[in-house]
Amino acid sequence: MVDFSTQAIHAGYEARCNGDAVSVPIYASAAFELEDALRGQALAAGIQEGFEYSRVANPTVDALERRLAALEGGIGAVALSSGMAAVSYALMCAGEGGGRIIASKNLYGASVDALGDFLPQFGIHADFVHNINDLDEVEALIGPDTRAIFAETVANPSTEITDLEPLAKLAHQHGIALIVDNTVPTPYLLRPIEFGADIVVHSTTKGITGHGNAIGGVIVDAGRFDWTNGRFPQFTRTEQVIADIEGNRRSFAGAFGNAAFIKRIRIKYLRTFGAVQSPFNAYLSLIGLETLPQRVSQQVASATAIAEHLAHTPHVIKVNYSGLGNTPQYALKAKYFPHGVGQILSFLVDGDVNNVRRIIDGVQLFSYVPNIGDARSLIVDPVNITHREVPEDYRLSAGVTGNLIRLSIGLESVDDLIADLDQAIAGAY
Ligand SMILES: *Cc1c(COP(=O)(O)O)cnc(C)c1O
Repeated sequence: MVDFSTQAIHAGYEARCNGDAVSVPIYASAAFELEDALRGQALAAGIQEGFEYSRVANPTVDALERRLAALEGGIGAVALSSGMAAVSYALMCAGEGGGRIIASKNLYGASVDALGDFLPQFGIHADFVHNINDLDEVEALIGPDTRAIFAETVANPSTEITDLEPLAKLAHQHGIALIVDNTVPTPYLLRPIEFGADIVVHSTTKGITGHGNAIGGVIVDAGRFDWTNGRFPQFTRTEQVIADIEGNRRSFAGAFGNAAFIKRIRIKYLRTFGAVQSPFNAYLSLIGLETLPQRVSQQVASATAIAEHLAHTPHVIKVNYSGLGNTPQYALKAKYFPHGVGQILSFLVDGDVNNVRRIIDGVQLFSYVPNIGDARSLIVDPVNITHREVPEDYRLSAGVTGNLIRLSIGLESVDDLIADLDQAIAGAY
């Protein structure tokens, strides 16, 4: 198999079909020439592959989708306008028509709000578990309407690791799908499909694009799940939108087989709700992907050094970084993350909210922003910013208290970053 770093530069794009341009061009075109009547009909019926209208597919976005599908080891991908569009569409596509989703309490804030508060308005309900790695707790919640388990591969800001392999096995024993958000590690550090995940979603805004300059998301389909097992009527009912060339209605499972999920995302969710990724953002993500292995490996090395330093820094009472050897998750780290869990870490300080405020205000190199995975180093106080919308018991499950500070480590010199943290912490007391 071609190496990851080679695929990050070449997969999913052919210069010959694109005016010999070596860098993927930005196709700023709303629609595409159908050429002749027969081809037009075949394209519209989905019998022939090609581009018609950029709400459904665009050549620049297509290159990003093919590249990310290759990097994750999936059969196909759909890029979307944001990570939350990817999360929402994936959960709705699985839970559509009265389904239930089992989810971890320590999810990204907007995902907690979607599952706990908003998707129920559309008839999709969630059952939250305290510990996604407690298989008994998970299994006890699987009922006749359960459609999927949803977890983050590495939680933010605790960096807790989800034990994917047994979770996938449990899900498949019950005919339900495993959907994971792989944003924090990026496919460079973890390829969840290799451990049994059925659907992988990302906020490409973070490590994948890597420069804090474009919002985007993606859904990748492993293409292995049987959507005709009786739990998912949305894939077996026939629909006009995918009628064949004679006009006969078809079902997504009948028409597309193992690609039913990703086709439904594109043909129903993207086509109807329209959270399209712009060609310009796809271009920025493709540029970012070219250096993903180099960026993430340097960031992991720096994050590890910073975590080790903070563990011995006065006023720091706890460091959360599963990359450190001293956490209870050491075995999971060794199994799933031989190259580290990512560029995020968090730490607890003593004192009160005023000390936290002085540290945030005292750093000079770190940018104070609610983002992760940037080339710049970032700092935030989750309780006031990123986890504000999360109910308190969920927040505590995620380890977010008033004296927690989250860092996302960028590409600056690690010595400069450590010196900056040292002066800010020392000056805060
Ligand atoms: C940022 C993030 C999202 C949401 O992505 P957007 O691109 O901001 O919509 C979802 N999940 C995780 C884990 C994230 O970090």
